[in-house]
Amino acid sequence: MAIILNQKIQLAFLPTPIETLNRLTTYLDGPTLLVKRDDQTGLAFGGNKTRKLEYLLADALEQNADTLVTSGAIQSNHCRQTAAVAAKLGFSCELLLKGKIPQTLNGNLFLNYLLGANVRWTDDDISINALINLTDQLKQQNKKPYIIPLGGSNPIGSLGYVNAMIELNRQMKETGLNIDHIVFATCSGGTHAGLVVGARLTNFKGIIHGIQIAKLDFLPSPYEKHLANLANETAKLINLDTSFSESDFTVNANYLGNGYAVITQTEKNAIDLMAKKEGILLDPVYSGRAFGGLIDLVNKKIFKKNETVLFWHTGGQPALFAYPNSNFISGF
Ligand SMILES: *Cc1c(COP(=O)(O)O)cnc(C)c1O
Repeated sequence: MAIILNQKIQLAFLPTPIETLNRLTTYLDGPTLLVKRDDQTGLAFGGNKTRKLEYLLADALEQNADTLVTSGAIQSNHCRQTAAVAAKLGFSCELLLKGKIPQTLNGNLFLNYLLGANVRWTDDDISINALINLTDQLKQQNKKPYIIPLGGSNPIGSLGYVNAMIELNRQMKETGLNIDHIVFATCSGGTHAGLVVGARLTNFKGIIHGIQIAKLDFLPSPYEKHLANLANETAKLINLDTSFSESDFTVNANYLGNGYAVITQTEKNAIDLMAKKEGILLDPVYSGRAFGGLIDLVNKKIFKKNETVLFWHTGGQPALFAYPNSNFISGF
């Protein structure tokens, strides 16, 4: 087990710090709020994909690949972090983005070009099937492609969050912290699957709440089944003799709003409040939506005043600069 969990390269600044959200805790008058700063993993603005890439790149290097191939939305944070690691380690990077080339280059899309990625556009499929087609073309050009699925969410990528849970366990022991709930943004599922496998491994007793950000139609349905499949495959990689089912996953689908990356009042309020009370930046697509969900669950008293809730900040801030800025600002 330990052997595989050590089979990573070092890309992230770890451990990421845990901070107390003092002013927000007082303001919301609910549970003690903490934040784990995976927005500070360091790789070209960082985020949760950096932890997954530590394992994926170890595998790509072992396979002697020379080209990283992945896909995502126009403002994909995963693509930006993949482009950064390709630059750092001297790989080519092929990104398949969903949509049409926009009029203006901003946010993560701008960074993809700055980091030297080759961007391709499609109105159609960005699932693993599309990536396999693309790698067939690349092989004909004598490239050695390495496929990273959308969000880096395969069993190897998910190991990043098994490792993250071990890291959290160590921090809890060092500081005497007790955590009742973890809240974070879940989408392609590798983060959630990894955290739950890591929770079993470290005997974590709290509840892990994934706030669902989008329904991806090419994933197995229901979403909890996809997460259980991914967790089982991940556990196998580290020879963990245990199994996961749908009921091991707490997914909250109440904040899907009008769909992926469509900003509502929930995200605006969360971004505005976190900025003005704590000086911490959330992103409009993932962490803003997930923290908006957290605030709602505090207001509904689902999280109790004597409890401790850790918000796992997964990053994404470059997307703040891809929307009209006045969207997020009260009093402008
Ligand atoms: C990708 C991403 C997520 C979701 O993580 P998954 O492992 O894909 O579920 C959450 N927050 C941010 C900022 C992301 O970029």
